[in-house]
Amino acid sequence: MIWALVENRKIEAKPKLDGICPLCRKKVISKCGEIYVWHWAHVKDENCDTWSEPESAWHKHWKATFGKENSEVLISKDSETHIADILTKNQIVIELQNSPISKSTIREREDFYGERMIWLINGEEFRVNLTVKDEWDDQDSIELKSLPRKPIRWKRSAPEVKKGINGEFFKWKFPRRSWKDVQRPLFIDFGEDSLFMVKEGMGTTQIRGVYIKKEKFIKKYGGDFSFYIQIQKENQDQPL
Ligand SMILES: [Zn+2]
Repeated sequence: MIWALVENRKIEAKPKLDGICPLCRKKVISKCGEIYVWHWAHVKDENCDTWSEPESAWHKHWKATFGKENSEVLISKDSETHIADILTKNQIVIELQNSPISKSTIREREDFYGERMIWLINGEEFRVNLTVKDEWDDQDSIELKSLPRKPIRWKRSAPEVKKGINGEFFKWKFPRRSWKDVQRPLFIDFGEDSLFMVKEGMGTTQIRGVYIKKEKFIKKYGGDFSFYIQIQKENQDQPL
């Protein structure tokens, strides 16, 4: 986690500081090394929230954009409590996902947070496996036969494409299949100015979606776009 409780206030990790985990109320210690983003960790490497993943600069960037008060927010339901990555001002949960995730965890998180949640996943690692497709060639057509969805709908010549609701088409080599049954809106951050909002085919060998400007996304959900840009610049300026 990026923030722990120190004297009942949410505080970022600083060297040689102890805090309290807001969820289990156990002691957490600051981890302030040179490789990983500064964060708090439970003493015995035990993590009280099984859904959490290691903090990355990517996580911190997004959380900071929505602000301390709207990030790492405790949400309870049916005597179960989890830490939502971001709870926007209009009460939408944004779950950030950097690493691969199991199908069952996707389902659990969606069930727990309900319909007012969206996924934002880091696509920088797998973007090399995606290639833009304008239309499918013969080789693809053969491959498409094994897909559950009817590929013909995705062709540029299909009527829906002509209506202008087609968006972008990608061929995805080595897709992360656990996402195949995702139920909530999903945005992929490829590290560009826009997010890719998946419309169809997530977790399969071809996906369709549209680009949404990050500025638009952040403003819609009550984040601070100029702060996002500022952090981006700082990250770029840091020597490797
Ligand atoms: Zn804890």
